[in-house]
This record gives sequence, structure tokens and C-alpha cells, in this order.
Amino acid sequence: MSKRKNSSKVRVHFRKNRGEKTRQTDLTRDFHRETFREDDTIREERISGKGSLIRQRTVRMEDAALAVGEDCRCGQVVRVHGLNTLVEDVESGQYFRCATRRLLKTLATEERHVVVAGDLVQFRPAGSLLEEESLGKQPDFAGMENLPEGMIERVEPRYGCLCRTSRKRQHILVSNVDQLLIVTSLFQPGVKWNLIDRMIIMAEKMEIEPVICLNKVDLGDPLPWVPTLGVYARMGYAIHLVSAVTGFGIERLRQRLQQKGVRSVVAGQSGVGKSSILNAVEPGLDLKTSHVSEMNEKGRHTTTTAQLIKLSEGGYVADTPGIRQFELWDIIREEVPGYFREMAPLVSLCRFPDCSHTHEEGCAVREAVSLGQMNTRRYESYCQIWDSCTSP
Ligand code: GDP
Ligand code: ZN
Repeated sequence: MSKRKNSSKVRVHFRKNRGEKTRQTDLTRDFHRETFREDDTIREERISGKGSLIRQRTVRMEDAALAVGEDCRCGQVVRVHGLNTLVEDVESGQYFRCATRRLLKTLATEERHVVVAGDLVQFRPAGSLLEEESLGKQPDFAGMENLPEGMIERVEPRYGCLCRTSRKRQHILVSNVDQLLIVTSLFQPGVKWNLIDRMIIMAEKMEIEPVICLNKVDLGDPLPWVPTLGVYARMGYAIHLVSAVTGFGIERLRQRLQQKGVRSVVAGQSGVGKSSILNAVEPGLDLKTSHVSEMNEKGRHTTTTAQLIKLSEGGYVADTPGIRQFELWDIIREEVPGYFREMAPLVSLCRFPDCSHTHEEGCAVREAVSLGQMNTRRYESYCQIWDSCTSP
């Protein structure tokens, strides 16, 4: 951070480029599989009572857009280290050590971090684009020092945010996540269906794809679970039976994770085999197994700050101890039925518009359960989750 040779230059550009072409949409479109879902973001924010964020984002986008000119590039934030942000150039794969323009920081007062891992940004490289050392292996903390520098000028609107609300402030751990890999093991420890249901709800809330992954099939016969898995499969959830030890099912899982531009998050209890699975999917990744606590470069425990791990055949996995347990529950009761895919179509048929579907007469959900049209275990899971949530 000592030689910020770029900072004055940036201010000049900010003035000079006023009113010029503002977006490099074709670059970003390539990168997303879907277009941005502005209205969904707004709806989510309304639910979590964060109306101010909408206003703030509008301000940020307009102001920041003015600063983005021809010499800006589309980047992806790999991780944030204090004032330094590791950014990967989307087009070339080069790495840059970026600072963040102060205007962005001023505008983002609600959020703890202006930029987070997973963010898509417009950044202005300071040095030559052809510096050799910026290509190749994902740089570690020490490796960041030698990278060409850049300045983040704009953060693109986010989708698929993994958030934690602490002290009434929304703290985004990782953004632009496409899928949540929910890992559990058939044995040692056994399947916790309730936990799977809770994680599915989180994924539904984030509007990202939940993928159910059952590990350790080498330890016994998965047959007893097939009917239950069928329930999830019929709702459209992808299911992977795997063994990190024998490699069973790993190739299929690899194809799911290693897709160009796709970002995945892995979640699940300790000991179910998350590290082992990632190591099997990406040989050479060498994540520590048996949940050895991870330390950062200074020997301290790592925080919840996520980093994106690049997979060799494309795609990224966001992984840190902090997001693994996925204890990020901020669901209110009224939301729960909407996140049970098989219940959503029934709720309008209940006698009472404010039916909780737990005990009421004339409840279409309870009737569906009694007729065998909704899975009993899923319904019990609903009741437990509803019970554990509060109303606003
Ligand atoms: P994590 O805490 O979820 O990251 O789990 P780890 O990857 O550290 O694995 C926990 C333990 O389960 C380790 O002792 C692994 O060797 C073991 N394990 C992981 N995957 C498998 C598997 O597919 N089969 C068997 N038998 N053991 C596994
Ligand atoms: Zn009902």
C-alpha cells in the first residue's frame, strides 16, 4: 500500500470520463449465466428490512458508473486483505492487487466491506497488462506483494449473497454465488435431514441452487435412503451420492462444480467430508482434512472472510471455516412456507389466510400430508423450523 502511484490518476479519469460509455455489458454478460435480477434483490432487502440499501445502491451505481471508462476492466474479487483486494481479470485471468476508490467506501457505510469475495468489479489497472507474474497460480498472501496494482472503480450489482447480520448490520461473506453444495454423510455421522432442509431454505432465500451431496457411500448400503432422496429429486433438487475415499460419483460432481464462471459454496457439519470431497474433485488442492483448524498467514485463526478457490477446469469454490457451518439463520416464520417448494402451491387453499399450517382446521397443507401428497418427514421438518423461527 506504500506506493499508490495510481490514486491521483484515478481522480483525473473520474472527471474526464463523465458521460462517456459507462458499461462494458458484453464482458459481464458473458460471465453471468443469467442477467442481474434487480427486482429480486430489492425484494430480499425489503424482507430483511434494509430499505436504505436500495437507495444506497442506486447512488453508488450512478456515481461509480461515471468513473468507469474505456481503460477499465472487468474483474472478480478473489479475496479481501484489509485495504488490498485480490482481483482476477475476467478476460485474461491475470491477477491484480487493487485498492478501492474512496467514493465507493463512503457510499457503502451500511456494509462492513465495500468489496467482498465473489464481487464483480470494474477496475483500472495501473501497470502494464502484460506483466508475467500476474498470470498463473492463484497468489497467496505473500504473492500479492508482487502483483501489478489496480483501482476498483465500481462494484456491479450483486446476486446470491451469503450474509450474516451482526449488530443489525448486514455483513456479506461472499457474493454472486450460484450454487450451495449441501454436504452430509450417510454414515459417521448419519444424515441430518432437518439440517438439509434448513440449508435448502437458506439457498432458496439467496435464490441460488441447492445441491444435495451425500458422502461416504463406501461405508454401507445407501438403499434405505432412496425413497427420501426421491422426495427431494421430485422437487427438482440435484442429488449426488459420492465417496471421497473410493471416488464414487466424484466425476459427476466435478462436472457440476467445474463450470466456467460458476461459483459454489460448500456447507455442512464438521466431519461429513467437505475437505475430502473438494480434494477429490480438485487433486492438488490439498485442503486439510479432519477439520484441523485453519490458520492464516500470521498464525491466527482465519476469520469468516471468504476466498474463491479457482478450479482447474473452470468454476470457483468459496471456502472458509466461517461459512462452512452455515449458521446464518435469519428467516422469519412467515417466510418459511414459501421456501418449501412442495407447500408453496397449497397455501392459498387454506381456509385462513394467516394459516400457519401447523394446527389449523381447513389447512390444505395438513390435508395434503394426511392424503400422502406431501412427505410426512418434510412436513415435520417444516413444523420444527416454523417453531424455531420468530415473527418480526
Ligand atoms: P469436513 O470436516 O467436512 O471437512 O470433513 P473431512 O474432509 O475432514 O473428513 C472427516 C473425516 O471423514 C476424515 O477422517 C475423512 O478421512 C473421512 N471421510 C471423508 N470422506 C469420506 C468417505 O467418502 N468415506 C469414508 N469412509 N470416510 C471419509
Ligand atoms: Zn394451512
